[in-house]
Amino acid sequence: MSEYDSIIIGAGHNGLVCAAYLGRAGQKVLVLEAAATPGGLAATREFHPGFRAAVAHSVNHFSGKIAADLGLERHGFRSQAHALTGLDGGRRHVTLRDGELTGAGADDAAAYAEYARLLQRFADALSPFWLKTMPRIGSSSVGDLSTFAQLGLRLLRLGRADMREFLRITSLPVRDLVDEYFDSALAKALLSWDGLIGARMAPRSPNSAVLALLYRMSGIGGSVGPLAGALLRAAQEAGAEIRCGAEVERIVVRAGTRDLAATGVMLADGTEIDARNVISATDPRRTFIDLLGVEYLDIGFTNRIRRLRCDGYVAKLHLALDGLPEFDGLASPDGRLVIAPDMDAIEFAYDDAKYGECPQQPVMEITVPSVTDPSLAPAGQHVLSAQVMYVPYALKGGWTDAARDAIRERAIDTIAAYAPDIRRHILRGELLTPFDLEQRYRVTGGHWHHAEFAMDQLLMMRPTYEAAQYSTPVPGLYLCGAGSHPGGDLVGAAGHNAAREVLR
Ligand SMILES: Cc1cc2nc3c(=O)[nH]c(=O)nc-3n(C[C@H](O)[C@H](O)[C@H](O)COP(=O)(O)OP(=O)(O)OC[C@H]3O[C@@H](n4cnc5c(N)ncnc54)[C@H](O)[C@@H]3O)c2cc1C
Repeated sequence: MSEYDSIIIGAGHNGLVCAAYLGRAGQKVLVLEAAATPGGLAATREFHPGFRAAVAHSVNHFSGKIAADLGLERHGFRSQAHALTGLDGGRRHVTLRDGELTGAGADDAAAYAEYARLLQRFADALSPFWLKTMPRIGSSSVGDLSTFAQLGLRLLRLGRADMREFLRITSLPVRDLVDEYFDSALAKALLSWDGLIGARMAPRSPNSAVLALLYRMSGIGGSVGPLAGALLRAAQEAGAEIRCGAEVERIVVRAGTRDLAATGVMLADGTEIDARNVISATDPRRTFIDLLGVEYLDIGFTNRIRRLRCDGYVAKLHLALDGLPEFDGLASPDGRLVIAPDMDAIEFAYDDAKYGECPQQPVMEITVPSVTDPSLAPAGQHVLSAQVMYVPYALKGGWTDAARDAIRERAIDTIAAYAPDIRRHILRGELLTPFDLEQRYRVTGGHWHHAEFAMDQLLMMRPTYEAAQYSTPVPGLYLCGAGSHPGGDLVGAAGHNAAREVLR
């Protein structure tokens, strides 16, 4: 008999969500995390004495259902929406707060109300499916047919005009969509941001930029540290055992009653631990190629996993500051601040990255999380966190210290155009390229979503056929991380859905 019902590889937020649900269902669960602390990309770590930051810097659409089911508020997580501000060199910032667009003029404010109503209707129609297992293509099982039918029904309920519009806009480049509604170049760039961040796409790229935008229009916001802490406590309260510093080297496969099946894991120190189910919260390529081994997979499946697009395009900048920088025209740097003056600026930054270069003029999203959570820095001091877009994983010529320093300094110069005193405050700056994120956080390509969030890698194709329902071609082996439906960001849905499939 196995020692555990389920072993989960990786204590990122999805692994913790999965552990909490399985524990609450009565399973004996062990979570094995290679890093010294849990949280994965949401783990807060010290990058300079007394200064701490997490790679993921804000919670924007965590599942409200999961938060309620797991009692996350009781465990210290507070839901709080973040304002989104597009910084303007001319100091006429555009802000989206509580559903209102300000700073872009009366016409754009009115257009935003109409635009948001339309997109919210679409987002509301889709959001129940983030918490569902996608049907298998060609399956005639009642469950699969019913999910297809529900999806169809929800779209039908939109009515003819909305349904047509939905089909049209989901295939649009996000640039075309915002061009139809708005005049302000800054507002357009700001409103396209959530469709693009984390992706290998720019405003002119067709498809799924709009789907990503809709995906990010559900759920609740908050702070990353309290979310990761609350998930850890929820998993522990449900009885899950969390073991850090425990790197899984191999998923163990043995002959089962009928077939080969995953029966446990072997740790890097050679310890073997048995379980009825092995659930991987690591990315699909690492799970199948590195931890399982292609000898257990057919060639077609292996090829599809090898072909997954996993190259990350977002670098992470952390600055330890001895005081609060002054952003021109902003009373306080609260919420998410975007530096992308117009859509061409985003497109040009992407063009550099397409050819393996760092952007000449980076675009980025900034937060100063120590404004709301002073525990992240010594008293009176601050942490600035920036997601610098379109920094390629595979830099032409490779990542050297000089290349890393160059993009870090360019990113700081970019910030200095909006916060001129920033350099005066810097005690230390750290820039983690996607390559560094891969090494440090064990995520293939350092990819935001573990595998690109694009039409051919979404829904019942995520990460690929035969593994899109959280189960895999190897009995007893499941996926529960961002590489599964519905994708990355701090949402918890993949962990929730995988737990349901394991319990089925
Ligand atoms: C630069 C960057 C910025 C981001 N910013 C945001 C943001 O602001 N807001 C947001 O919502 N999302 C953000 N994201 C995306 C978000 O962080 C991820 O999509 C999400 O954290 C994925 O969670 P996960 O639990 O699926 O996987 P991870 O958080 O990647 O967790 C996987 C865990 O598995 C562990 N692991 C891997 N291999 C092994 C092994 N062999 N043995 C044991 N353990 C192992 C890893 O150490 C890790 O802890 C960002 C991503 C990046 C790259």
